Amino acid sequence: MKKLPILLLALVLPASAATPAADPAAAARFAQGDACMELAANDPAAARARVRQLQPGALPDLLLHLRICDGYAEERAGRTEQALARYEAAVAEARRGGTPRLLALALALRGEQNGARGLYAAAISDLKEAYQLELEHGSARRQINVLGAIANLYADRSVKDYANALVYYGKVLAANEAAGDVQGQATALFNLGSTLESQDKLEEALQYLQRALELDRKRGVSADIAFDEKAVAVVLSKLGRHADALRLLADVERRYGKDVAPFDLAALRLSRGVALKRAGRYTQALPDIEAARAFFLAQNNARFLEKIHDERAQVLAALGNWREAFNARGEYQAVHQKLQDQVLDERTARLRVLFDTEQKQRQNEALARENELAQRELRSAQAVRRWQMAALLLSLAGIVALALMMARQVKLARTMRDLALTDELTRLPNRRHFLALAQASLAHAQNSGGTLAMAGLDIDFFKKVNDTYGHGAGDVLLQRVAHALRAAVRPSDSAGRMGGEEFSALLRDAAPDQAREIAERMRAAVQALDCSDIAPELKPTISIGLSQLGGKDDRLDSLCKRADDALYRAKENGRNRVES
Ligand code: GH3
Ligand code: MG
Ligand code: MG
Repeated sequence: MKKLPILLLALVLPASAATPAADPAAAARFAQGDACMELAANDPAAARARVRQLQPGALPDLLLHLRICDGYAEERAGRTEQALARYEAAVAEARRGGTPRLLALALALRGEQNGARGLYAAAISDLKEAYQLELEHGSARRQINVLGAIANLYADRSVKDYANALVYYGKVLAANEAAGDVQGQATALFNLGSTLESQDKLEEALQYLQRALELDRKRGVSADIAFDEKAVAVVLSKLGRHADALRLLADVERRYGKDVAPFDLAALRLSRGVALKRAGRYTQALPDIEAARAFFLAQNNARFLEKIHDERAQVLAALGNWREAFNARGEYQAVHQKLQDQVLDERTARLRVLFDTEQKQRQNEALARENELAQRELRSAQAVRRWQMAALLLSLAGIVALALMMARQVKLARTMRDLALTDELTRLPNRRHFLALAQASLAHAQNSGGTLAMAGLDIDFFKKVNDTYGHGAGDVLLQRVAHALRAAVRPSDSAGRMGGEEFSALLRDAAPDQAREIAERMRAAVQALDCSDIAPELKPTISIGLSQLGGKDDRLDSLCKRADDALYRAKENGRNRVES
């Protein structure tokens, strides 16, 4: 997050202005060396060609400068081992008889390389010596830049010596104020703010970042303003000032405009997604985080992805999307592990090149960090277990829900079936169901040679009940009669409602005498009904017609027809009676 002062360019560019005017030839040689450095920064191959072209016959000071330039070209081309070897040689040569300014340049470059390799003590020592040389022989501008490089080193993620970083950024700020360099002041203020933020001193960090923003607004450089605004927004968000943070991020987006670099836009959306998450606006946070994820996945940028997966898991979990949250947590673990492996690799590589007197102390530091790393790994293993447990519970909950759903489905199907087979008013089998039962009993009786009787029943003068006491009273009477019929038949018999006030009874294994006895019981049961609660003078009766299963060729419809005919005779003969 830090704006790094461009140490080398700044070391190089103003050099000619500080060249002693007393020796114009030396000044010209220095300018040639500087031009080479500038070329190396942009086109390393061209710089090396220039070095080979100038070297023959060059005087010692230019020759040394060209060697440094050669190293710098190697560094810019990514061959840092070769670069470091050339800087080592250049420092040794400069100490034997080079100018202090070239020694300062070689030391600064070597210091920076050592810093990049994690040889912080060696790096600081080089940079401090370079600073001393610049104090005695160089320009104020270059002194400030070396101070900035020292501060950056202290603030490095792996060094984390924030107290010293703050001291040096403070010095850089004071020097820039003295020199009237507004951009330098803004950069120093920004770095002070970032360092305080790294220490979680958010209120103080906010003040410095806001001062940096103020200065950059005065300077009017849009890219710098956006950079500051974003940093201020992040701290505001961390402080819980969500509305301010989101407003500022919207400003940044507007400032970026349409031609924004994809990287900047993705980083902005990540910041906004996290700010929305902190504000509890998870649904809005998710698309931003997804967009950032897509971009940094394509870039394969592990540093960003580690944060993105972590934030995404939190947002998905907050939205109750446990399954995806679990997957995101897995992605986080994978990237996290990869980065930790990298740190270990780097550390191993560093330990291999540590041979100076501070080796013991640094090994101890590394061990302490290793210890911390192991602790952190333990904590993340525990986190993984918690997430696995959550997934397990989730699966169990799924299984229980499925079982409950299936049970409900079975119950529902049963209810539907019962509804389809039962008469709603009397709860007796309806016509369709009754006839199906009858058909089955008939087949059984014919196959086994058993007997079967059928009774047709009809309430007497039922129309009058409806007409006199109302349809509601008729319904209640239908229920009473149904109940009485069911109680009167044997458990092996079936009674059903055929429609209206007509019922039927299926009397299984009943010979004619036994059938008549049961029919008589049904008739008497209805006659005995107490209906005074419906109407005082209501005395219901039923008429019954009986039929008996004939031979092998008898059919259900003819069995019913004969019962009907007998019922008709019962009505004819005065009702409230049984006819066969
Ligand atoms: P009888 O005994 O000689 O057969 O005379 P009845 O009045 O009982 O015979 P009828 O067939 O003339 O009348 C049957 C009446 O039953 C006609 C109809 O309105 C009534 N009814 C049919 N279904 C229902 C019902 O579900 N509830 C009520 N309350 N009445 C019904
Ligand atoms: Mg009738
Ligand atoms: Mg009737």
